Amino acid sequence: MKPKNKFQQQVVEASKTLPSITKEQIQWGYDNAIEYLGYRSKKGIVTCSKCGHSWKGEGELITTLLGCDCPDCKSKLTVKATAKRTFNDSYYMTVIDSHKGCQVIRTIMLGYTSKIGELPKYSASEVMQRWIAPDGKYCTFAKLRQTMGTMYYDSWIFHTPLELRQETDVYNRIYTGAVYPKQKLIPGLKRTGYKKALYNQRPLDLFRILLTDSKAETLIKAGYSRLLKRIMDSGWKNIDNYWASIKICIRNKYIIRDATLWCDYIDMLRFFGKDLRNAKYVCPTNLKAEHDRYVIKKAKADAQLEIEKQLEKEDAYREAKAQFFGLVFSDGLINVRVLESVAEIITEGKVMKHCVGSYHSKPDSLILSACIGGKRIETIEISLSQLKVIQSRGTCNKTTKYHNQIVNLVNENIPLIEERLAA
Ligand SMILES: [Zn+2]
Repeated sequence: MKPKNKFQQQVVEASKTLPSITKEQIQWGYDNAIEYLGYRSKKGIVTCSKCGHSWKGEGELITTLLGCDCPDCKSKLTVKATAKRTFNDSYYMTVIDSHKGCQVIRTIMLGYTSKIGELPKYSASEVMQRWIAPDGKYCTFAKLRQTMGTMYYDSWIFHTPLELRQETDVYNRIYTGAVYPKQKLIPGLKRTGYKKALYNQRPLDLFRILLTDSKAETLIKAGYSRLLKRIMDSGWKNIDNYWASIKICIRNKYIIRDATLWCDYIDMLRFFGKDLRNAKYVCPTNLKAEHDRYVIKKAKADAQLEIEKQLEKEDAYREAKAQFFGLVFSDGLINVRVLESVAEIITEGKVMKHCVGSYHSKPDSLILSACIGGKRIETIEISLSQLKVIQSRGTCNKTTKYHNQIVNLVNENIPLIEERLAA
């Protein structure tokens, strides 16, 4: 892609003089970024995939669970029981570099093929560079990727040049892998207090936030890197929800050991309308105890809210159906009565194991219950506009032997309902 602005032009120019990844860096990657295996044969012979050394291993379970160290090259090995003879895999490593005033995040793909009885063959290829200016602007250099006939989004075509490319989310999904420990930083990043820990974030995101938002720098310098990590994990834009409280914590030299718990706690304070600028609230001596107290408080508030919602439904139900309350029909055996509350309808649905529980909100329906000697037999739904029984169901939606008797009883008494409708 041709550079589209001055920044991209500068980066294209700068990239021409960027030194290659060194042999040492690549060797470090082979030693640290690759997960080496110990192949375990049926007879219990373990072969180190890094140096080819073979030896009689410990018991199968132990080595498979715990892995082991190669007695020869001392590599930490993951043990795999296998009859396969050839293996290949690839890994990423990241070199954090700076060049011509830009921070450069360089991604190298390391490949290795090992064959039992031979030394592994290695390959390394720099596949991507993210160039970040001190003001947070960035652009990406990458090799081309195979996009047809592969299920992988990172099938790099190694012989293509590292060139300025259109941004795509694929670049953000490439693993960071192991990070080469010697990092070269631009002054703007050094100033922020960045100490080479990535807090499990993508370097591009972390660096851009550090370069463009002084709040991130403040967090690191105040020793709140766990909070930085927690908020980046949840999306950096959430920093504004906590910033006022964080400033109070900094002023009070408050130590936040558990950033997740603290953020959770602040969210609850906000829910209860507490003053988020008051140290009494935001810097509790015993965070865990206060947090737990609010969790209980919140659960009660949620339950209360649920009750209020239910009461609202009751009000609506009473308003819509009160004119039918008190209606009872009987033929001496069967008693039929109108259900007079949402709670009653829900109970009916639960006891009878059918779906009448949600019928209280149907404007055209009147729900009645037929009982014999106080025992529920069937639940009846009447259409108020058609003045007829729509359905009458026993437990689990079954029809009972009293079904016809119940329907007849209700039909005979429809005029009573009609009377109430007219009133
Ligand atoms: Zn070895």
